[in-house]
Amino acid sequence: MIAKKNILQSKVTSHLPKLHFNQKAAIEHERLTSLIQSMGDGVIAIDEKARIAVYNGAALNILDSNTGIEDKLIADVLKLYDKTNQPVDVTEMINTTTTSMTTRDLCLIYSDGTKLNLYISIAPVRLGYGKKGQKGHVILIRDITREKSLEEERDEFISVVSHELRTPIAIAEGNISNAQFIADKNFELSKIKDALKQAHTQTIFLAGLINDLSTLSRAERGKLSLDIEPINTHELCKDLYKNYTPSAEAKGLKLTLDLGSSLELLYSSKLYVREILQNFITNAIKYTEKGSITVGADQKDNGVQFWVQDTGIGISKPDQEKVFNKFFRSDDYRTRENNGTGLGLYVTMKLVRMIKADIDLESEINKGSVFRIFIPNLQ
Ligand code: ADP
Repeated sequence: MIAKKNILQSKVTSHLPKLHFNQKAAIEHERLTSLIQSMGDGVIAIDEKARIAVYNGAALNILDSNTGIEDKLIADVLKLYDKTNQPVDVTEMINTTTTSMTTRDLCLIYSDGTKLNLYISIAPVRLGYGKKGQKGHVILIRDITREKSLEEERDEFISVVSHELRTPIAIAEGNISNAQFIADKNFELSKIKDALKQAHTQTIFLAGLINDLSTLSRAERGKLSLDIEPINTHELCKDLYKNYTPSAEAKGLKLTLDLGSSLELLYSSKLYVREILQNFITNAIKYTEKGSITVGADQKDNGVQFWVQDTGIGISKPDQEKVFNKFFRSDDYRTRENNGTGLGLYVTMKLVRMIKADIDLESEINKGSVFRIFIPNLQ
């Protein structure tokens, strides 16, 4: 975004016909001027010919202008675009406003391409004083870019999550009802087992998703607590190996351990270290079609270096910078063939920060990835 120019002497310029103010009117005028000046929202009043008569510093700030705008046509100053980035005829919009209107759907685009979402309120007014006062409009403008992006993020969140919930629930439901049907009819045990297995896989995915969401929500509210305890990293890795071997084998992948011989107790959060490694391992299994996955750990000065290496689809250079972003999922069709929300690594990063760890990602498309993490002793 362009640095907002400092409007030291923002003006409220009034082009009213020269009237003989009595003292009271002059004081009132001054009061009004300073009131408009002190408003956080941009105020622009235009006359019947759509020329600017009054404005304040906040308006100049939003328009990113450090020169006066009095007498300019509003259409030359306020260049608005709609949701689809089509220019809006501002004069027409104002002229057709007979009662007041507000909108949150228009934006300004600065010369460097930065977009500013605006709240705009337009109201017809009598601008001048006395009987000959001209008619015009007052326009209120407010920068709502941040609010908008939060709204968009919330909408995206709801849509991603509801979509991700719907698919596995539908598959699990379909399979359970199928199993019931077969049990009632001809009791073919292998088919029942098959249906239940699929339902089970989807339920595991749902449990993982809900787990991610709950961690995420606690992390975003700053409610994650940190319990430091001694972790036997050797045991932890063996336990993960035991838990994930079945899902790796189900895909024909080989899961192996590569543990250093001098592993010592690690003082960190057992819960978070486990969750971080689990996220790497589930991703490695998910995004690997053939080959192997290695979970490794090595003792370092004051901490342990873990890594999860796969021979999977790999991550392109530009995507490597984005994988820890919220909702990011690669466009690669092989990624899209798998369920996912793009939340796992985002949550992982939150946990990584909590335990002051360092992550390093190395990956090559079609060759595989290695996620390395150094976890320091926190005691
Ligand atoms: P999800 O797996 O639910 O999509 P994540 O946040 O765990 O979300 O991962 C974000 C994205 O990073 C994935 O969608 C995928 O594109 C990429 N990714 C993560 N781990 C791997 C991996 N081991 N191999 C290839 N791509 C990966």
